[in-house]
Order: sequence, then structure tokens, then C-alpha cells
Amino acid sequence: MYSYICLGMTPFSDIPYIDFHTHRRTDQSGTICVVSMNGVPDRQADYFTSGYHPWWLEDNLSVSQLAVLEDLYTHNKDCLGIGECGLDALRGLTLERQEENFIMQLEVASRCGAPVIIHCVRAFDRLLRLARTHRKTPWVVHGFVRNKMLARQVLDQGIHLSVAPAVKMTPVFAEMLAFIPLQNVFLETDSEHSLSIDRRYAIFADLRGIGIDLLKDRMFDNFKSFFAAKWKYHDGWSEQSS
Ligand SMILES: [Zn+2]
Repeated sequence: MYSYICLGMTPFSDIPYIDFHTHRRTDQSGTICVVSMNGVPDRQADYFTSGYHPWWLEDNLSVSQLAVLEDLYTHNKDCLGIGECGLDALRGLTLERQEENFIMQLEVASRCGAPVIIHCVRAFDRLLRLARTHRKTPWVVHGFVRNKMLARQVLDQGIHLSVAPAVKMTPVFAEMLAFIPLQNVFLETDSEHSLSIDRRYAIFADLRGIGIDLLKDRMFDNFKSFFAAKWKYHDGWSEQSS
């Protein structure tokens, strides 16, 4: 369990790393992991989000599946948001059917005021269209690997981006990472655990020419404001490691 004692200003040394989107909790101390669950949580996590990933959908979501999300977000203080959910042109049902399922989850998020973690592959035109009509809460596209022009379009819709800096990066990806405004970005490992979140912070800090402490401070601020509706139940909460 992450140990966090808030006494007003958090000293730099106590600021945690945030693994903003991952599929498993790591036991690395001083790290907050937000674990993505498919519906009902089936793994250990201190904090999680829950949604129905487009890869695993075989049909339209049922009323009871959607009720699971609403119930988790409404009643479990550790459930920080809805997702990952979204659109993938390369895998799963047709995009039309994925969009129906995505909209159903967006409607749950709007009803509960829940932030949404989005998976989007080769379907940004649809996503940007949906953002204009359906975005009522904070949204983030996770695992963003595209160019800075598309990043600009997504950011212009008020959507944040979560990225996974790596040792080897394409020039297009590195250029986008150098451009993206710090207040709109999160860092994640997703399913690629060969590189830890602190190493990814180091790569990103190096690319941006800033210190690691400043980056941790900014990422923690972004995390707290993105998940503000739920983090208020944890902030100021004094808890010891177990
Ligand atoms: Zn993921």
C-alpha cells in the first residue's frame, strides 16, 4: 500500500511516481499505479479504473455490465474513472459497433461525473467527432504514439494524452513528446513492464530538459486534478504502509 501523508505542501522527496495506466500493480515503493480492469476488478490494486476494452467485446454491452461500471465508480473510492474503453480499427468488432459500446460507457461516465481513459487506434476522426458531442467529463487518450499535429487536434478538444517514453523511439514520437504541454500529459507503462515507470520519467525529463523532481511534481498535480472527484477521498488521508 502506498504511504502518503499530506500536510499541506508535499516535500519533493515524498512526491510519488504516477503510473497513470497499467494492467498490473507493481510493488515499487513511492509509486501510485492506476490499474485498468475489465469490468469487475480481478487483480490487486490500490487504485483502478474499470471499463470494457474494445478488443474483448463480442456483442453490445448489457444493462448489467454497464451497471457494474456505475456501481464501482459510485461506491468504491479506489475506482478513479471509467476505462479503458474506446475504438480500435485494427481489432475487435466493426467500428460502428465499437462506437455504440463506447457511447454507452461515455453515458455512464457523464451520469457519474467520471473521468474516461480511452484506447484509440486509427479512429481519431470518430473520437474527435464524439468529443464534440459526448465529452462531459475529463478524457485522456492513453498509449498515444502519434505525431504532434494529431496531438494538437486532440488537445484542442480538451482531451489529455498519456504516453510511454521508451529507450528507442521513432523521431515522430520523440518530437511529439518534446512538444506536448506538460499540463496535458501523463506517463504510463500500460502492458510493457520491461521499462519501469521511473525509467520512463527519466527519459521524458531528459527529453524536456527538466529535473526529475519537477516532473514528478507536475505529473502528481495533473493526476490529482484529473481524478479530483475521487482523489478528494484520499488527499489528506494519513495512511501507513502495510
Ligand atoms: Zn491498457
